[in-house]
Amino acid sequence: MTAQIIDGKQVAADMRVELKEQVAKLKEKGIVPGLGVILVGEDPASKSYVTAKERACEDIGIYSDNNRLPAETSQEELMALVEKMNKDPKINGILVQLPLPKGLNEAEVLLAIDPVKDVDGFHPVNVGKMVVGEKAFLPCTPHGVIQLLKRSGVTIEGSEVVIVGRSNIVGKPLANMLIQKKPNANATVTVCHTRTKDLAYHTKRADIVIAAAGRPNTVTADMIKEGVVVIDVGVNRVEDATKKRGYRLVGDVDFEAVKEKASFITPVPGGVGPMTITMLLYNTVESAKKAAGIEVE
Ligand code: NAP
Repeated sequence: MTAQIIDGKQVAADMRVELKEQVAKLKEKGIVPGLGVILVGEDPASKSYVTAKERACEDIGIYSDNNRLPAETSQEELMALVEKMNKDPKINGILVQLPLPKGLNEAEVLLAIDPVKDVDGFHPVNVGKMVVGEKAFLPCTPHGVIQLLKRSGVTIEGSEVVIVGRSNIVGKPLANMLIQKKPNANATVTVCHTRTKDLAYHTKRADIVIAAAGRPNTVTADMIKEGVVVIDVGVNRVEDATKKRGYRLVGDVDFEAVKEKASFITPVPGGVGPMTITMLLYNTVESAKKAAGIEVE
């Protein structure tokens, strides 16, 4: 079997068309969704993520309030900016790009964001709501994974899902979302990590394997069964002298070999990555609708 490639770029583009239409309709009612963006310091990866998020906002008509702060910014200055955004009616979502430079207290900043504007879904209030199955902002990468599965026609309900990785931004929220008694969930979920005794034992019995370990070749062809669905969240740089920049990006899955056994697989790049920003836009639009008293999904 050769897998069908799940084209994350295409799914993300389709969703952005839908969002753009929604934003246009909101504008007819005088509502402009707004995202407040805060980047502290000069980290090149963070800069490029933030620029991509701002461009994506512009593309679909979301207003973005872009703030670039020097690495020497104090905790008080950062907290004051978050407070200002909490009160600003033009801003429906607040994004503080992580990681923050050393010396700044990330947890305190994330806690200061008003949960109704927490479009990253990292505030404990939203995490708690997600766990108990209440309506909440869902964290963007795991929500993007579920959208990819849903929009590819993969049956999640009743499936054995094995997630490799238990971070607070991917593995744990994804596991929580997939076990909900809801459509596009109702899965039986196993979460693996570095203390898992026999990773292959688990991945071999999975209908859906989701790799979020941050290590190339964590999932290889001998570790999966025929016809499995494989979602690769990992983004890793590996040296490549043939590339101008000296490296290429790979996921956590041995893509070439695994695609010969799987039924569906996401590539890296072009799989989960484009969905993360799209779900941020989605949350911002939902937040604007909620603030205006319009029914949200
Ligand atoms: P993280 O915080 O480093 O967590 C990695 C998790 O994987 C940990 O739970 C770790 O176990 C587990 N793990 C690592 N090596 C393993 C192995 N050999 N066997 C089993 N488990 C293993 O990483 P993260 O923030 O979740 O990100 C994971 C990957 O996804 C990274 O490559 C990151 O760049 C990528 N990512 C992509 C997007 C996107 O938009 N495409 C978004 C977020 C993250 P322990 O807990 O035991 O250490």
